[in-house]
Amino acid sequence: MSVDAARRDLARLLGAGSVLPGDTAVYLSDETEGRGLRGRADAVALPETPDQAAAVVRWCNDHDVPVVPRGGGTGFAAGAVPLDGGVVLALERLDRVRSFDPLLWRACVEAGMRTAAVRTLAREGGLVFPPDPGAAEQSQIGGNVATNAGGPHAFKYGATGAWVTGIEAVVMPGEVVRVGGAVRKDVAGYDLRALLVGSEGTLGVITAVWLRLLPAPEAFLPVVAFYEGVVSGCSAIERVLGNGITAAALEFLDAGTLAAAGPSFPGGVPAGAGFLVLAEADGSLAEAQRLRAELEAVLAEDALGVVAPAGAAEVEALWRWRDGVSIAVSAQRGGKVSEDIVVPLDRLAEAVAETVAIGERHELPACSWGHAGDGNLHATFLVDPHDDEALGRAEAAAGELFALAAGLGGSISGEHGLGWVKRGRLGLQWSPEAVELHARIKQVFDPRNLLNPGKKTAG
Ligand SMILES: Cc1cc2nc3c(=O)[nH]c(=O)nc-3n(C[C@H](O)[C@H](O)[C@H](O)COP(=O)(O)OP(=O)(O)OC[C@H]3O[C@@H](n4cnc5c(N)ncnc54)[C@H](O)[C@@H]3O)c2cc1C
Repeated sequence: MSVDAARRDLARLLGAGSVLPGDTAVYLSDETEGRGLRGRADAVALPETPDQAAAVVRWCNDHDVPVVPRGGGTGFAAGAVPLDGGVVLALERLDRVRSFDPLLWRACVEAGMRTAAVRTLAREGGLVFPPDPGAAEQSQIGGNVATNAGGPHAFKYGATGAWVTGIEAVVMPGEVVRVGGAVRKDVAGYDLRALLVGSEGTLGVITAVWLRLLPAPEAFLPVVAFYEGVVSGCSAIERVLGNGITAAALEFLDAGTLAAAGPSFPGGVPAGAGFLVLAEADGSLAEAQRLRAELEAVLAEDALGVVAPAGAAEVEALWRWRDGVSIAVSAQRGGKVSEDIVVPLDRLAEAVAETVAIGERHELPACSWGHAGDGNLHATFLVDPHDDEALGRAEAAAGELFALAAGLGGSISGEHGLGWVKRGRLGLQWSPEAVELHARIKQVFDPRNLLNPGKKTAG
């Protein structure tokens, strides 16, 4: 079928104002653009209701056309990039709050609602939606669920999936189904909800989610400590756990990251610092103060300096700075190949040091930062996005990083998913039998391989 005919058909289903040309640039890339990835599509569909989303999926199924679900396009795995044509199904117009019951700590929202708007909604009811991946102003709750996004506070509260009690999704050949709902427990069937969480648009198109919320902690009190290097910094991180301190967040920046983001750190970085640990205490004011005092004591050992911002404005400035770390690193060379490997916590120091060593072997500046408490590193190689040769070296370096993560008993992805950039690599950490099961689940949900084909493939 010609591209014109496809657009005509889709416009008949959705209305002309809800179908855009396939070359509409903002729908063709995500955060991997800095590593040279940009796709091409035949059309962009913008449904306003779940039934319209189902009609698009049904049309794609009937005409053997791939469909690429898209949230805010902030992913780091090229999951939302249409690499080989097809229809981009953008969820941004499905952004309604279907219900909000603050007294029952729950909400049901449509998939295209921005993450920041979900968090604001919860806050207005005195509650909190704990998952806090960066780029909250742009990412959508559907994209967060489809990637099971984490963030700093996943250390205490878990990743997005832990807060999802139900999902409404369009599945092949174009039907709206609902699994779970406003219930806090449900073991009646196989956990299809959990399968859709983190499925990266390869099993279904999420159109709405039921979320669990929590009464907002009264106080958030962060502590920042600086160390000479990786060994003393990682020992401090292990001391927090060893002392039984339930920090809400436990983050780190290595030397290369500090060099990029340190100049904008609110408060100044002590001379000689080559590693930063950011921990946060939360709870009632008294509880958060007690935990913060414990964190300060434990982190002070071997530290070059410890800072504990006090007022709300200082705390906000600190987290705004933390949100900007990824951008500060990108700014060094204009682009980066950034992965999200996970290792057991007691192997974190090795993974941080080895990331730099891999970079050196490939003649690339390298650094890492991330969610230390979860052993989750954003291990990164800096590149000029216009230098194809350097990009090639960075991709080879990323391959070594995945082998490193698997070899240390970890995972090749803790947050961003496999998408396109890590396709076919699951065998590094799973047995052939488990990889085969993964492929068979895809076949059950999507027998014609039209839902985001080529992404999250196992083998
Ligand atoms: C500055 C910055 C900081 C970040 N920090 C974090 C972090 O701390 N933790 C973290 O986990 N991530 C982080 N990310 C990555 C990213 O923001 C998350 O992965 C986010 O959840 C992606 O959401 P999105 O709406 O942008 O999805 P997209 O990028 O549009 O899509 C991501 C994947 O989900 C699929 N998808 C999207 N919407 C749907 C849907 N409704 N139904 C089915 N499939 C869908 C897409 O097909 C694709 O495979 C960060 C990104 C940036 C730019």
